Amino acid sequence: MSDIIIVGAGCAGLTAAIYAARAGKSVTILENEGVGGQISTSPRVENYPGFKSISGMEFSDKLFEQACDLGAELELARAESIEKNAEGFTVKTEFGDYPARAVILATGCRHRRLELPEEERFVGKGLSYCAVCDGAFFKGKTVAVVGGGSAALQSALMLAEICEKVYLIHRRDTYRAEEKLVEQVGAAANLEPVLNATVSSLNGTDSLESVTVAVNGGRSEIKTDGLFVCIGQQADNAAFASLVALDENGYIVAGEDCRTSCEGVFAAGDCRTKQVRQLTTAAADGAVAALAACRV
Ligand code: NAP
Repeated sequence: MSDIIIVGAGCAGLTAAIYAARAGKSVTILENEGVGGQISTSPRVENYPGFKSISGMEFSDKLFEQACDLGAELELARAESIEKNAEGFTVKTEFGDYPARAVILATGCRHRRLELPEEERFVGKGLSYCAVCDGAFFKGKTVAVVGGGSAALQSALMLAEICEKVYLIHRRDTYRAEEKLVEQVGAAANLEPVLNATVSSLNGTDSLESVTVAVNGGRSEIKTDGLFVCIGQQADNAAFASLVALDENGYIVAGEDCRTSCEGVFAAGDCRTKQVRQLTTAAADGAVAALAACRV
C-alpha cells in the first residue's frame, strides 16, 4: 500500500509527488498518457519563476526527474475508478488495483479543440490554446483568436496590446463574455471582430499562414501568423463522479485547500474548480494537496 497515490503526472501531480516524497511518504503516480501533462506540448515557457525560457518538454522532464530521484514511482495506467474502504482507498486500473491511504487527483484538463484535420500539425507552429503562455512570441505580428467567451476576449485584448493586428473570430453575433470585455473589444483600434464566422480550415506549409472562415454562407481567407483557440476547456473526471463532487462542467469541487467532498481525497491543479489555470497555480496546488495528504 502506498501512503499517497497521485493520479496525473502533470505539473500539479509531479509537484505533489516531490513534496510528499520529501516528507518521507511512499508515493505512486498513475499516468495514462505522457509525463508532463499539457505543458509538455508548449514550445516555450517564459512565465514560470526561475526559468527565463524553457521548453515545456524540458520543464516536464526536470520535474519528473526530481520526483523520481526523491523516490516517487510512476505506473503507466489509467485510473478507472476509486473505491473508499476501511484502510483508505483502492484505485482501480486496467492493470490492477492500487491501494493507498490518501489520493491526490491531478488529472488536469484540456483545451477544447476546433476538431479540424490540420489542428494537431500546427500546434506550436502558429496555433496555440493559451495567449498568456504564447502571446509574446507574436509581438508585432498579425494573429487571430477564436471564441466569444471571456477567455477569448481577454486573450484578444491582451494580444492587441502587443500585436499589430488581431482578428476575433466568433461563431455568433453576440458574445458570451462579460460586458466590460465586450466594450473594451469595441474600443480597441487594431482588433477586428469577424462575427457569424467559423474556422473551416487551417492553411500553411511549415507553419500557419492563414485560416479559411465560413461566414454568411461564403468563405474568406484571413492571413495570420498565429491562431489562438479559446473556445473553453474540458475536464475529464467522470470516472471519479461517485467519489467526489463535480461542478456542472466536470471540474472537481475543491477550494484553495484542495480538499474535495471526500475526506482523504484531494484535487490539485487544472482539474479542480478555480479561477486561474496556470503552471504556477498548478505547482502551488501540488504543494498544498501533498502537505494535506501527508497528514491523513
Ligand atoms: P466559455 O465561456 O465556455 O466560452 C467558450 C466560447 O467558445 C463561446 O463563445 C462559444 O461560442 C465558443 N465555442 C465553443 N465551442 C466552439 C467551437 N467548437 N467552435 C467555435 N466556437 C466555439 O469558455 P471560456 O471563455 O474559456 O470561459 C470559461 C469560464 O471562465 C467562464 O465561466 C468564464 O466566465 C470564465 N472566465 C472569466 C474571465 C474573466 O475575466 N472574468 C476570463 C476567462 C474566463 P458560443 O458563445 O456560441 O457558445
